[in-house]
This record gives sequence, C-alpha cells and structure tokens, in this order.
Amino acid sequence: MILSMIACTQASHAKQDVFQYNDERFADLQMLRYQVHGFDALTLRQKKLVYFLSEAALSGRDILWDQNGRYNLRIRQLLEAVYTDFKGDRTTSDFRAFETYLKRVWFSNGIHHHYGSEKFQPGFSEDFLRAALKTIDPAKLPIQSTLDALCAELFPIIFDPAVMPKRTNQADGQDLIQTSAANYYGPDITQAEAEDFYLRMKEADPDPTHPIMFGMNSRLIKENGQLREQVWRSGGLYGPAIDRIIYWLQQAKTVAENAKQAGVIQKLIDYYRSGDLRTFDEYTILWVQETEGDVDFTNGFTESYGDPLGMKASWEGLANFKDQAATARTEKLSANAQWFEDHSPVDPRFKKENCRGITAKVIVAAMLGGDLYPSTAIGINLPNSNWVRAEHGSKSVTIGNLTDAYNKAAHGNGFQEEFVIDQATRDLINEYGDACDDLHTDLHECLGHGSGKLLPGVDADSLKAYGSAIEEARADLFGLYYVADPKLTELGLTPNADAYKSQYYTYLMNGLMTQLVRIEPGNNIEEAHMRNRALVAHWVLDHANGAVQLIQRESKTYVQINDYAALRGLFGQLLAEIQRIKSEGDFEAARNLIETYAVKVDPTLHAEVLDRYRALNLAPYKGFINPEYIVQRDSKGDITDIQVRYGEAYDHQMLRYSRDYHFLPYVND
Ligand code: ZN
Repeated sequence: MILSMIACTQASHAKQDVFQYNDERFADLQMLRYQVHGFDALTLRQKKLVYFLSEAALSGRDILWDQNGRYNLRIRQLLEAVYTDFKGDRTTSDFRAFETYLKRVWFSNGIHHHYGSEKFQPGFSEDFLRAALKTIDPAKLPIQSTLDALCAELFPIIFDPAVMPKRTNQADGQDLIQTSAANYYGPDITQAEAEDFYLRMKEADPDPTHPIMFGMNSRLIKENGQLREQVWRSGGLYGPAIDRIIYWLQQAKTVAENAKQAGVIQKLIDYYRSGDLRTFDEYTILWVQETEGDVDFTNGFTESYGDPLGMKASWEGLANFKDQAATARTEKLSANAQWFEDHSPVDPRFKKENCRGITAKVIVAAMLGGDLYPSTAIGINLPNSNWVRAEHGSKSVTIGNLTDAYNKAAHGNGFQEEFVIDQATRDLINEYGDACDDLHTDLHECLGHGSGKLLPGVDADSLKAYGSAIEEARADLFGLYYVADPKLTELGLTPNADAYKSQYYTYLMNGLMTQLVRIEPGNNIEEAHMRNRALVAHWVLDHANGAVQLIQRESKTYVQINDYAALRGLFGQLLAEIQRIKSEGDFEAARNLIETYAVKVDPTLHAEVLDRYRALNLAPYKGFINPEYIVQRDSKGDITDIQVRYGEAYDHQMLRYSRDYHFLPYVND
C-alpha cells in the first residue's frame, strides 16, 4: 500500500536554504528535487550498500515501461532519437509540442498519464514526426524492417485517440483487460478467461489460509488455445533486467549491515531466480523482521494498481536509510509518553496507566526507481499480503526527505499570499511552519494514536464507519494541544513559546478552507483525515466566542485568530470529549459530531476557494529528479568514497537512464 500526501505524514526538517527544490515545469507537472540528508554521515560500508541498492532500484526501469504498454520501449527509443538527433528547426511549435510530449512520456513511464491513465494526445502532427524521423540515422531507431513499417505500426498507437485510450480501464461493465493498454495480459485474452484461470488456481491452493499472491509476477498469455503464465524471473520474461538487479543485490549482500539483512537480500535473489511466490512470501517475512539495520530497500513487483484486475504488480525500487534526526525527535517524545498522558485534559478514567510511545520510523530516500519514479509515494506500508501482515506484521515508514521537499518547494508558490490573512502571520508560518508541522505529526503518530484506553467491555468497533475519522481527530487534537505546551520547549523541540501559533493558523485554515481544493464541486467530504480536520476546525469555530472567526476582505474569506491561548483550551476541551466518545464507544455522539461538522461543504465558500486556488495555476502533479552518486576508487579499483551530487537536468537524467539501464529488447513476448 502507498501513502499519499493526503494521509497522516511526518517529515524531517533540515535547514538548507540554497538547495533548489523546484526544477522545471511542463504540462500539468512540476519537477522537484530532494536532498539525501545524512548520506555523508553514513559509514563507507553503508554508503556502498545504499549505492548498490540504488543501482538495483534503477536496473528495473525497462520492466515498468513494458508493463505499462507493449509499445512503450519502442516509442521511447523513437522519441529519444528525435530529441537528440533531429536536424531541423527546434523552435517550431511542432518541435516544442514534441518536447512536452516526450517529457510527459518520460514522467509516466509510457504513453498514458501516470495518474489518470488516459493516453496523451500529441500536440504535433504525424507529418512532423515522419519528416523528423527521416533526418535520423536509422541505426538509432527501433526499426525491425523499414522506417515506413515502423511508422505504420507505431503512429496509430501514438496519434489515434481510439487506439489504446486507457492504460488501466476501471469502467464497470466493460471487458477490463480488452479495454486496458497495460501489458499484463496477452492481447487476445478476455477478462472472463483471466478470472477463470486465477479462480481455478486459487481453488487448487494446498494452503488456502496462507495464499500466495496469485498472478503477481507474471504476464498471462494464450498459446495454442491454452492459458499460460510467463513468469518474470531470471531466464524468464524480463530476465535480462532481472539479472542486472540480481547482480547489484549480490554486491549489496557483501556489505550488508548484519547477517539478517544479508539473509533478506539472498532470499530476494532466490525469488528473482525462481519466480516462486512462496519464496516471495518468505522474503517479505524476513524483510519485515529485519529492523536492526539503518539501510533498507524495496525492490520488486509490488503494487497492483496498474492491473485492471488488481493482481499483477508493477516493478518498483527504493533505496533508503533511517532518518537519524527525525528518529532522535520521536525518541524524545516516546521517552516522555507517560508525562504527556498524565497531563492531558482527558478524564483520568480514560487514561492509560502504562503508556509507551512509539518511535516513528522516518526514512531518507536515496534513490527512486520503477513505479516510484518520478512520481512517488511519501510513505510505505508493506508487505501487501494479508496473512503475512496478520501473522508477521508490516513495516510502516514515512519518507521524511520527500515530504520535506514538497513543503520547501511550496514556499513562494503564492499559496500563502493568497490564503493567509496578513504578513505577520505569513512570517510566523515561514519561520516555524515546517518544524511545527513535523512536530504535530510526530505527536499525532508517536503519542496521539497510542494514548487513552477503552473502558472495560467497550467494543473497539463501536463507532463503526465514524471510527477512523474520530480516531484521527483524537490523534490530531492530542498533537494540537501539546504542540503549544512549554514542555516541548523544555525538551528542545520547539524554539520558543510562539512557534505553535504557525501550526494553529495553518491547521484551521486548512480545515475550514483550503483542504476543499481536493473536493469536487457538489461533493461531500469522505476521506477520514479530511473529515477529522473539518471536524476539529468547524467545532472550534462554532465554540470560539470570537477567539477565531472567518472574515471577509474585498470579497475574499480569511481565517482570523484573535486569541491563540483560548484556542488551545478549545482543542483540549474537544480532545476530552472525543476521548470520552472513544472510551465509552458512544456511537450517537460520534455520528452527531461528524455529521454536524465534518461532512457537508458550504458551496459558496467552496466555489470561492476553488477559484482562488485555480488562479494560482499550480501544477497538480509533482515528481522528483534523482540525485547521482559519484563513486571514487583507488588504483586497485576499490571504492574509497561515495558522494551525492545534485543538479542533473531532467532530460539528461532520462536519456542517461535510457542509455545505462536499458536491458530489455524492444519487443518482449
Ligand atoms: Zn493518524
């Protein structure tokens, strides 16, 4: 499962003023960069481990391109040849449109939108492309017979809106396999055939309480009328790329931090060699249990969002290591968990006598690959197998340096100028906003969710559909109440007694107004975190007695906070009530609070917020350019140091990857 920016997140905070987080913008995309905080402080052995795992994360790139569509690798080669070798005028509108198209194709690892999955419509003509191709050395093109034959085959795929219009079609009532361009099934296979094939396989499972992830690592094809899986493994489909991944995993194993970690890597190699999904389950169990090492990774066929039937997993890779600064912060909170529990404004009957905080796991991404690049997740919760999760647990981590990059990149994009009431408040947010955001998230995750107790005999599910929004509100309120506490300054977590005000302002602004940009006009609020924020903000506004108000200025609405100290009291009051509801399992009270404050949207304010947001013209989607690792070797060829370097251009990186990590043939059948 992946966590998006909408889920509860936490972030590490580092002061780096000169780093350029924003890079180029095109179409609906904004390219960003992330910093690999703390890489220099790793030991040489750890740096090597991160580097080898990074190479493994890049080596499967072609796999994803082919999974996303059977023509993608050929189209990529064709477009890149035009981009680098076109001899004509590069200032025409056709060429500019061509550049934008290629950048979008790179971003999506194929010709369909990475998020919406609809096919891109080129803004340049067929004639332009045909003429451009004629200026290029044919050896650079993926020609099987003639250039004309290549154009005849690929042009409808690129230009005809009716051909392969969706990568992953989810429209109910259609044959989802026949209408999806994703290359997980042979072109002549129907949805009914595939479903029947896997149903039989499941029925024949000798251990149905521990089911493997059926169909996860294969393409299903029809041969002589018989269905058969082409398994993605060494020696099988995608074998040449998988062999490169295995090579880098073998290197990584030689510098593993401990024997367990080496065992995890070896098990992954075994699985890549055999393609056996039982071995894959064994691997994920070992991976979950390995928590001692600082360096970690995901590498493999992981998420199944791209398969219309939700079985076949796209390839992704991530190399990462523990975020020491963020971990130190959460350890401080955890060590004081009982103090926070004892001093909370909650009725003593609902408090835990023995409270242990959680040390939240924050990681630093060092390299993004496959389906995590350039568009990426900010958190990871794996494995996906239900029985493995139930019996062995899962790893849940947030990727601090990516969240940090999103936050930093948003500075100066006009959002605060538009929605924050005045310069003094903006100054406060600029100074303390990111740090207090992180801290609030830490309080939410490390203490909030773990605080309080149910009364004896109360069913944990009594709040039913309102349970998750109430639980998120409880954790958020715990964080809001304590982010203003002098204890945090005493612990060295907040710089002074005013910093928390930045969090109070942005929280209310978000809950009352700006989170509405994610809701379509006419819709209610559904998502649990959004409901929680609306609940907290609207309840406080309703009980504020002037401490906070929504005001109008030149027909624009703003949040105005008149009494921050009173707000803290209100957060504490609502926390006490929400804890009571949870502890007693008071379903009626939960329903009443949520339905009154957290679901419905004021259509006038909603329209205003959407208008103001649209006028900012912010890119709806973002993705990351990776750093580079520069390896230094001595005269014997041994690695003596590795340094991280930033600043590579987006097109340069993509062309470099296509040159250095291109391991698959253009046609994979
Ligand atoms: Zn939460």
